[in-house]
Amino acid sequence: MSAQIIDGNALAKKIRIEIATRTASLVAKGSKPGLAVLLVGEDPASQVYVRNKVKACEDVGMHSILERHPADLSEEKLLQRIDELNQDKSIHGILVQLPLPKHIDSHRVIESIAPEKDVDGFHVANAGALMIGAPLFRPCTPYGCMKMLESIDYPIRGARAVVIGASNIVGKPMAMLLLQAGATVTICNSKTRDLSAHTKEADILVVATGKPKMITADMVKPGAVVIDVGINRLPDGKLCGDVDFESVQSVASAITPVPGGVGPMTITMLLLNTLEAAERI
Ligand code: NDP
Repeated sequence: MSAQIIDGNALAKKIRIEIATRTASLVAKGSKPGLAVLLVGEDPASQVYVRNKVKACEDVGMHSILERHPADLSEEKLLQRIDELNQDKSIHGILVQLPLPKHIDSHRVIESIAPEKDVDGFHVANAGALMIGAPLFRPCTPYGCMKMLESIDYPIRGARAVVIGASNIVGKPMAMLLLQAGATVTICNSKTRDLSAHTKEADILVVATGKPKMITADMVKPGAVVIDVGINRLPDGKLCGDVDFESVQSVASAITPVPGGVGPMTITMLLLNTLEAAERI
């Protein structure tokens, strides 16, 4: 068996066309969705991420601003700027690129973003809303994973789902979204005993650990759907996921590749969250 490849680029493109159409209809009514992206410091990977986010906004007809601040920007100045953006009616989404320099308390910064503009969905109010099943914003990466499952019409209700990784930005919200969709969910972390006993039970396996190719074919239930969130750079410069794609694709019924899988979906869901924030006003 060779798995169906869930093409994140193609799905992202399709969703972005729908976002562009909805954006145009808001613009016609006099309201242009706007995203503010704040970068503090010079981290090269972050510079690429923020550029891509702003470009994606422009491509769908949204307003966006990219603010680059020096690495020694004080926490107070950053909080002050976020407060201004919270009041700015042309801005519907505010994203502070993480990680922040060490002298800035990331938690305090995230909590200073107005929950209705927190398009990353990281504010405790939004994490709580997701937990009780009434999300305002779904965190972008897990939201993208759910759209990928939807794209293959996977019957999530009643399925056994295993999420490996329990971070606040990927693993935990992913588990919540699967639970709300009716799956029976297990969350694994680095302390989990006998990981493969869990993974072999999974109809849906989502892997977000940052450990290159750690999931091999012998750990996967035949016919499972495998969503690989990991993005790792190998010594030869190539990108790979947390799943050993070559071996697992012969066991799974569907699998996301890296690159070209979850990655392009994440930015697309950021656009969708920004659009929905603007539509609510
Ligand atoms: P974190 O480092 O915050 O969390 C990793 C999680 O994986 C932790 O819960 C950790 O357990 C768990 N873990 C680590 N090793 C193992 C192991 N051997 N067995 C079981 N669990 C393990 O990472 P993120 O959630 O931020 O990101 C995960 C991956 O996803 C990274 O590769 C990152 O680059 C990628 N990513 C991709 C995105 C995309 O758009 N495609 C977006 C965001 C992230 P413990 O809690 O015990 O420490």
